[in-house]
Amino acid sequence: MTADRLAIRGDLLDFTGAPGWGDTEPAAVRFRSGHWLLVDGGRIVGVQAEAPGGDFDRHDHAGRLVLPGFIDTHVHSPQIDVIASYGSELLDWLTTHTFPAEARHHDQAHAEATAALFLDALIAHGTTAAVVFPTVHAGSVDALFAAAEARGMRVIAGKVLMDRNAPDDLVDSVDSAERDMRRLITRWHGRGRLAYAVTVRFAPTSSPAQLALAGRFCRDDPSLYMQTHLAENRAEVRWVHELFPDARSYLDVYARTGLLHARSVFAHGIWLDDADRAAIAGAGAQIAHSPSSNLFLGSGLFGWRAAEAAGVAVSVASDVGGGTSLSLLRNMADAYKVQALAGERLTAWTALHAATRGAAEALGLGAEIGSLQPGRIADVCVWEPAVGAVPLRRAEVARTLHERVFAWMTLGDERNLVRAYVAGRAHYDRSPS
Ligand SMILES: [Zn+2]
Repeated sequence: MTADRLAIRGDLLDFTGAPGWGDTEPAAVRFRSGHWLLVDGGRIVGVQAEAPGGDFDRHDHAGRLVLPGFIDTHVHSPQIDVIASYGSELLDWLTTHTFPAEARHHDQAHAEATAALFLDALIAHGTTAAVVFPTVHAGSVDALFAAAEARGMRVIAGKVLMDRNAPDDLVDSVDSAERDMRRLITRWHGRGRLAYAVTVRFAPTSSPAQLALAGRFCRDDPSLYMQTHLAENRAEVRWVHELFPDARSYLDVYARTGLLHARSVFAHGIWLDDADRAAIAGAGAQIAHSPSSNLFLGSGLFGWRAAEAAGVAVSVASDVGGGTSLSLLRNMADAYKVQALAGERLTAWTALHAATRGAAEALGLGAEIGSLQPGRIADVCVWEPAVGAVPLRRAEVARTLHERVFAWMTLGDERNLVRAYVAGRAHYDRSPS
């Protein structure tokens, strides 16, 4: 028996394409009950109904759900310390809670300890890949990438750019940002499963000169990602209009500096108009919808249906610490409620697709992650379909696959996770039984 070869049995659930909005029985859902997922050397090599031979280490999870690991497209590693902080909205929340927590990351030992805790927590919530904001300190990026490399995780991150409108101990400059980015990109971008993202906190905390620098980096190397916040909160949008009176819209501040492209990840995107959505779709960029954060900070209701209709790729994100859980299941349940308030209905399929294959494709990583297709890296999670008397009862009476999976998405969280594999290695195991 080779340790590298393993076979995971369960109810395999993934997508062969994008499910249509509102369709509870789309052809794009691939559900293979009681199948074996074969993994060799960290990659998925096959799926079959019959048990594999003795040359595979067999992990039998019959009756459990087996899905691709979730992809969290927007989350802040240093903000574990401020999750669930009482009583403010975005701009006040940043000043009161977030910036002091981020300032502590000038201490390298603190940055390293936080990075390890953060990534282990992601995996323990069923998230095996993430697009992450560390802090303004280059050392926080080194710490995060080193910890991701040690775990074999797909992580996209970059040094946060902020040279104005922030506390003195958190601002960089155009020159120091350029130096730091050059060093970090050389060291980490494209190394193993790591990729660098030009990381603008948001338009108000970067000077026009720093935004121009960020745009130059993107133009010079189209393999770089770009991540930032966009139109999260109304006061923020007003502030951006004051700071950039010539821009047509908040998005336009980024677009005109070269920060709107196929590898751009915009968190939130709540307060947009049709022209913004068309521009994002046209560029092939994506919106990282962060529902628990939007509800917690009272930021607004994301127009998923409008984004979808405009052809914008939408992924699901936790946005911890504005978000209240690293669990993308909980965030999907919140996404459903956000859509309900907006008069729409989000199917479990659209939500799960956005957290797996949809996010992978929007990141240009569809050949690596997001599905259970042979050839993909084996980032795979095994889930209990129900934990506790009420979810168990609910699963028992469910009549259709969508009903069952929707109840799992709505009632489940990290306590449902049984095991998480990152590149075929078990990194989390709830029950060693
Ligand atoms: Zn955020």
